[in-house]
Amino acid sequence: MVGCGKADETKKGQSFKLLDAWAAEIPLTGGDIRFCSRFTMANKAEKWETNAAGKFYVDQQCIDCDLCRETAPAFFSRSEEGGYSYLSKQPTTEEDIAACMEAMEGCPVEAIGNDGDV
Ligand code: SF4
Repeated sequence: MVGCGKADETKKGQSFKLLDAWAAEIPLTGGDIRFCSRFTMANKAEKWETNAAGKFYVDQQCIDCDLCRETAPAFFSRSEEGGYSYLSKQPTTEEDIAACMEAMEGCPVEAIGNDGDV
């Protein structure tokens, strides 16, 4: 990880330049912008114990950005003690799986996997 964090009001209007291969420059326009360089894909050997057993899971790369919980709130929950997200319920219908796939694809650090034990 090269750059990772959450913008705050003191940085409003400024830019943050990611120093990884993307070399992207992201304008900070508010207090709720989250940014991070890319990590590696999810690793089921490092998934949280709190995940519901099954195909989808969250691993320990999670930075608690909240995106998956906003995208698929029926399936992702927050561990208040640990400060991370986990799969609280496995999807079963096509619609539910699509919601979890959307969350997985949107995770900025690729902490969500779908190759867990079924
Ligand atoms: S989107 Fe990824 S990093 Fe953000 S809370 Fe969910 S699992 Fe964690």
